[in-house]
Amino acid sequence: RLFGQLLAHWAKERPADTALIFGDRTWTWAEFDERVRRLSGALAAAGVARGDRVAFVDKNHPACLETTFAAGGLGAANAVVNWRLSGDELAYVLKDAGAKVVFVGAELRPALDAIRDRLPAVERVIVVGGDADEYEAFLTSAAPHSGTEAGTVDTDDGVLVMYTSGTTGFPKGAVLTHHSVLAHGLAAGTAFPIGPGDVNLVAMPLFHVGGSCYAVSGFLYGEPSYLTREPDAASLFAALQAGITHAFLVPAVVAGIAQAGEAALQAFSRLKYLCYGASPMPLPLLRTVLAAWPDVKFAQVYGMTELSGAVTALDPEAHRDTTRPERLASAGTTLSGVDIRIVDPVTAADAEVGEVWIRTEQRMAGYLGKPEATAETIVDGWVRTGDVGRLDDGGFLFLEDRVKDMIITGGENVYSPEVERVVAEFPGVAEVAVIGVPDEKWGEQVKAVVAGEGLDAEKIVEFCRERLAHYKCPRSIDVVAALPRNATGKILKRSLREPYWRDRDRNV
Ligand code: ATP
Ligand code: MG
Repeated sequence: RLFGQLLAHWAKERPADTALIFGDRTWTWAEFDERVRRLSGALAAAGVARGDRVAFVDKNHPACLETTFAAGGLGAANAVVNWRLSGDELAYVLKDAGAKVVFVGAELRPALDAIRDRLPAVERVIVVGGDADEYEAFLTSAAPHSGTEAGTVDTDDGVLVMYTSGTTGFPKGAVLTHHSVLAHGLAAGTAFPIGPGDVNLVAMPLFHVGGSCYAVSGFLYGEPSYLTREPDAASLFAALQAGITHAFLVPAVVAGIAQAGEAALQAFSRLKYLCYGASPMPLPLLRTVLAAWPDVKFAQVYGMTELSGAVTALDPEAHRDTTRPERLASAGTTLSGVDIRIVDPVTAADAEVGEVWIRTEQRMAGYLGKPEATAETIVDGWVRTGDVGRLDDGGFLFLEDRVKDMIITGGENVYSPEVERVVAEFPGVAEVAVIGVPDEKWGEQVKAVVAGEGLDAEKIVEFCRERLAHYKCPRSIDVVAALPRNATGKILKRSLREPYWRDRDRNV
């Protein structure tokens, strides 16, 4: 199965039906397929061939989806780059991607120009949007490509290079193949069915799997997709007005809707399916939206860049199953074609609580240009997720922590989220992160970093003492104005740990 065959299929079956909506523009399947083949032709004329990479740096834009399919038609891959990166980070990622052609949104062109001399491999920069839309001119500059030809492109060729969020270290480029992304689309589709009359909202950034791979999973079903530039309130309302039925949103965006007032909350009750995930969902927020949207089917997904997206899902029934209320805090059961193991991170033996290992055809080919990191992550076909979890009697996955964030104090494992949940209940605490800092006697000690109004560190420690085993209680509290977060809203614990571990051997 190839990306090109997907578009060709719908262009033949449903040529005049809507494939994509973006603002006030729509594309039929026939138009989408035609534009992609034109872009393939132009890329080929620009020297892009099988095994090459192009890169795309912009907020969400249909051109990014076209570029992925067009590169895919040549056996090349689209490295979709986070437009929010600083100049140095952008230079690092674009260099890492080794892109020959870079597409850049008009607003981001100055940022790219500023680092252009650090990117010798880039042969051509094409501006998307703006006054002189170079992208449209480029697209019509050569004869259309004939479409994917069997034999020239293989299902194991990379089609997307997606960078990990960089929560635990430098972002790494996961090479996702035609096969892995389409396998994800099919598995996600069974957990999150899209059918006649449905419209799928793609609002999360295309530079994450929750954007690009989620979009592909929608295309598989031949129904229209509605793309927004950003997941801001105005765009989401416009999408609701336009009749979207399905959406994937991260918890931070759901929280924004819940805080936007009664009218906003009501507007979303019309959705058929809401899929959420990518970071932990606070339980009070989940309870609020479950009550406010009684007819919405909720699906929580857990996954990662290296696995083309979701690998487990908590289905709509489990969300409303009052006999097992504790499962609301779970990431659900494996999608079809996904095997799971819980492994002791030190001994690699099966364990009750341990690192989550996943085996699936959704797996990346490897990290771009990083054979050592790839060999550390993929072991005998299993992907080490770096997450700590356990399975209940029904195979429901409960995530405890990240392996790198786990604190080992006096030989006891402390899972930071367990402590964070308690500290978060202390009145006035708006945000909290629990980290391990050096301790001469115990190896590590538990520290809580909090932000909020009028906080008294000693009272927080006392509060925890009443609710947690002694070794889990924070020994110290840092009060800060706000916690550092990345583009997806994930807290950057490594930057909180860094000042304490400088000159020591813990890999922060
Ligand atoms: P990096 O690998 O660069 O440190 P990252 O792991 O945050 O960054 P992603 O691939 O975007 O990069 O995110 C995958 C991670 O997100 C998972 O390993 C897990 O820790 C977290 N995650 C994903 N889904 C969920 C979920 N439903 N609940 C809790 N955490 C989740
Ligand atoms: Mg990761």
